Amino acid sequence: MDISILLDGLNEKQRQAVGAPAQNMLVLAGAGSGKTRVLVHRIAYLIQVEAVSPYELMAVTFTNKAAAEMRHRVADLVGSRYQGIWLGTFHGLAHRLLRAHYRDAKLPEDFQILDSDDQHRLLKRIVRGMNLDEKQWPPKQAMWFINGQKDEGLRPEHIDWSANPIERQLVDIYRTYQEACDRAGLVDFAELLLRALELLRDNPQILTHYQQRFRHILVDEFQDTNAIQYAWLRLLAGQQAKVMIVGDDDQSIYGWRGARIENIQRFSDDFKDVEVIRLEQNYRSSGTILRAANELIANNQGRLGKELWTDGVDGDPISVYCAFNEVDEARFVVSRIRSHLQEGTALLECAILYRNNAQSRVLEEALMQEQIAYRIYGGVRFFERLEIKDSLAYLRLMNNRHDDASFERVVNTPTRGIGQRTIELLRQVARERQVSLWNAAGLAVSEKLLTSRASGALRGFAELIDNLSTQSAEMDLADQTDYVIASSGLLAMYQNEKGEKAEARIDNLQELVTATRQYVPDPNSEELSPLVAFLSHAALEAGDNQAEADESAVQLMTLHSAKGLEFPVVFLVGMEEGMFPSQQSAEESGRLEEERRLAYVGMTRAMRKLYLCHAESRRLYGKESFHSRSRFIRELPQDCLEEIRLTTQVSQPMSAGRFSSSAEQDSFDSTGLRLGQRVLHPKFGEGVILQYEGSGAQSRVQVQFADVGSKWLVVAYAKLQAI
Ligand code: ATP
Ligand code: MG
Repeated sequence: MDISILLDGLNEKQRQAVGAPAQNMLVLAGAGSGKTRVLVHRIAYLIQVEAVSPYELMAVTFTNKAAAEMRHRVADLVGSRYQGIWLGTFHGLAHRLLRAHYRDAKLPEDFQILDSDDQHRLLKRIVRGMNLDEKQWPPKQAMWFINGQKDEGLRPEHIDWSANPIERQLVDIYRTYQEACDRAGLVDFAELLLRALELLRDNPQILTHYQQRFRHILVDEFQDTNAIQYAWLRLLAGQQAKVMIVGDDDQSIYGWRGARIENIQRFSDDFKDVEVIRLEQNYRSSGTILRAANELIANNQGRLGKELWTDGVDGDPISVYCAFNEVDEARFVVSRIRSHLQEGTALLECAILYRNNAQSRVLEEALMQEQIAYRIYGGVRFFERLEIKDSLAYLRLMNNRHDDASFERVVNTPTRGIGQRTIELLRQVARERQVSLWNAAGLAVSEKLLTSRASGALRGFAELIDNLSTQSAEMDLADQTDYVIASSGLLAMYQNEKGEKAEARIDNLQELVTATRQYVPDPNSEELSPLVAFLSHAALEAGDNQAEADESAVQLMTLHSAKGLEFPVVFLVGMEEGMFPSQQSAEESGRLEEERRLAYVGMTRAMRKLYLCHAESRRLYGKESFHSRSRFIRELPQDCLEEIRLTTQVSQPMSAGRFSSSAEQDSFDSTGLRLGQRVLHPKFGEGVILQYEGSGAQSRVQVQFADVGSKWLVVAYAKLQAI
């Protein structure tokens, strides 16, 4: 058997990990040292050389994207033999367990997954239903509380609230919420993990089955496992399975969501004879990028300590750009992407990374204006879009009339004369009689609790759902979806809305039909109806793998979602004190260190070229604020950096166009205007100056207006007013 392809392209240490005998292993190593590569090759090695059946393997990754990528890479090495591996995220695998053993998990066969948006809505209703003041008990806070407790493995009865009346109320909300979920057959993300853990813990025969089945368990990005995931792993591994974990304590970035770096340390204590392997060679980044990243992370305390070196070239310095404001920052990024494209870099090879999702809008506008294709990961994902959720809600309700979240979503969408007052009454009936909203509607109609108009409208809605069900019962999933979109009135509703947004929504509805057509159920969902299987898929994946067709595009994502990925050219934007690190984290050392790790993750995504951008003033969430350069830039070795001062690029000789942001000479001529300045135009409204050219009476400026886009104006006539 030719095993060389499994071991070629690996260094000594990597080979040692891949070809190790069956044992517990911890691969602890810095970014870009080939941890994920080792994991993939280890799976292939076990199958190919050790003749382990794929059926006996379980591999856990952090995101759906990483799971898809891993499946792909294993398939490249061992061909179709990889099929049968349990490979996915913790959530995906927990879902699979619950589907297979729904009865023992005390769930209805067609249970559905509640995504975080629906969870929030449901909690909002519950808080109101308990007659609590929403301001005092924000549903978001309740949601954090509940998910946090579940992540620790705690049910309401396990929580000791005696010392804390606030907690007591939150526990009450938790209990009421959980009862509502159980009644409707809904499972939120944290519940997936907790239920699956309880399933294994409380059903010894099921546990034994899986413990005997999985001989090898492999986990990537282990530094971000939380308490319940760790408990899960220990339980499943039992005494027999060999566990390989790979991770990097310096890349732990989910502490705020309950991840525990200490799990790395615990692993060595809890599992027998753990062989620790350290990888020290980085294959991803240029010498300069690596040196800067190493120096940054050295500012953190209590690290497990790792060396990281490369024998690659030093490469370009890291470019630091100080923008006037966020618009200027976006413009800079886009102009640099343009030049990289001209030099032969592909769109797909450029990534823009930011701290918060809200930062993407300005970048998107700049990219659109320049007609550069882009793709956002983890923003509003496909299955989370309004029109898609509406359509899915119809499908969910057809499948399960007691799905209250879906009922509320579509009972009056499109409008059919069912007002807030009616819905309020239904909620009340549902609460008092402990029934679903669907049943409450039935009761309210038969007991004449409503006006005849409202009764008529509700009856009409119930008939609509029943008819959609019966009439599409024989159709395949795609036809059924198509039929529901049209017959529910959703399509007509969006057709009547005018404008680009409505068009995009109609396209998305079409895309949903395509998605159902292309959907292939995973092997464990085979017994489910295609509709139920598809709905779970939609909630779990939320479209992470959607739009693969759109491959040739600049990649936009938050630093958190960039984990594990790599790109030749990377822009880190918004590197400002108060943004990154955020205000709150700058004041707490634990959180500050987590932010620094996030910066480390961001920098180490870059292979060839890294840009760090910050803006002197930034308008975000409708507020303008001024920030100084992030300490994470200041902590880098100066000889790795190159400051970029923009030239105005137009008719001026290059040197004459240079400016520095604070100096007097920035303002051109005697106009008092300068680049990046916000101005008011009598007709076009508010805007920002992007460029200027000429001098004296001829000087012209390019202004990016909020409402009408960008325009060139002659300063002498434009009546611009600095604001
Ligand atoms: P991260 O911590 O960011 O998840 P990682 O340690 O998982 O990084 P990989 O993504 O596995 O690192 O590898 C980084 C890059 O280096 C990849 O492009 C990988 O193909 C390449 N690489 C890893 N090992 C080698 C090797 N021995 N020879 C050549 N290239 C390698
Ligand atoms: Mg990795």
